[in-house]
Amino acid sequence: MGTELGKYKSCVSARSTDKEILKGAQDGGIVTQLFAFALDEGIIDGAIVAGAGDEPWRPRPFIATTKAELFAARGTKYNICPNVSFIKEATRSYGLDKVGIVGTPCQMQAVRKGQLYPIGLRDVGDKIALAIGIFCMENFPYQSIVQLVEDHAAMKMEAVKKMEIGKGKFWVYGQRGQVVQLPLKVTHKYEQPGCHVCLDYVANLADVSTGSVGSADGWSTVFVRTRAGDSVWAKAIAAGCFETQPIEKVKPGLELVSKLANEKITKNKTTLEERATFGVGKALRNPYI
Ligand code: SF4
Repeated sequence: MGTELGKYKSCVSARSTDKEILKGAQDGGIVTQLFAFALDEGIIDGAIVAGAGDEPWRPRPFIATTKAELFAARGTKYNICPNVSFIKEATRSYGLDKVGIVGTPCQMQAVRKGQLYPIGLRDVGDKIALAIGIFCMENFPYQSIVQLVEDHAAMKMEAVKKMEIGKGKFWVYGQRGQVVQLPLKVTHKYEQPGCHVCLDYVANLADVSTGSVGSADGWSTVFVRTRAGDSVWAKAIAAGCFETQPIEKVKPGLELVSKLANEKITKNKTTLEERATFGVGKALRNPYI
């Protein structure tokens, strides 16, 4: 495997041992379980998560300081939730000194950039105690999710129990047990254009990154990347929070994660090169001179 998976200290397939967490989890309940453990242990004093917004499946950043609040935010919502914009709120209005944050790979990049160049995030960067990244191939504006669910899958947004991208399809699960699958060629045109120049699939800059790809149903693949990530992960394992399996023993395993990461990077590098040919990505020249 090459650089497509980023640097990491260890990688396993894992799932939470808490049945309540698993019930509402997207896959192995890694984010909820790890934040819940970190809260219990005082490693974080709150976490910025994708909470419920004003409309069904429209997330808004939410600062969870209790397990119940973390539980309420379980599951993936396939549209952008501006969690990074809440870091200041978490530290200033909520007074948190040890902040957990979950986000997409691009949001992990923003967190690290904010720590290195804290313009607008003064006195805040060193309060990020645990950054968890989620694998991400692409994302959608909220209106696009509405189109996909209501027009293509013929389901009401409020009747949806879960959405998922996997096995080459976009899956919509209804509260009454209905399942609709859409081929990804239908969803492509709804993707955010910015995602087409994104070169990170597995959240290389997170402390811990996770996603379903590579592991069996109900389990998640977990990369432990940094010292902070390693420390909290080791403590959580010792406390019995997770069942794990060596990733080498799991099918499809890292081979698939690597394949998808490479596909994303190759495809999006091509888009970057194409955009450079029509001026975007280079310093623009005034055509009237
Ligand atoms: S594809 Fe990249 S830019 Fe788009 S949401 Fe995912 S990480 Fe962010």
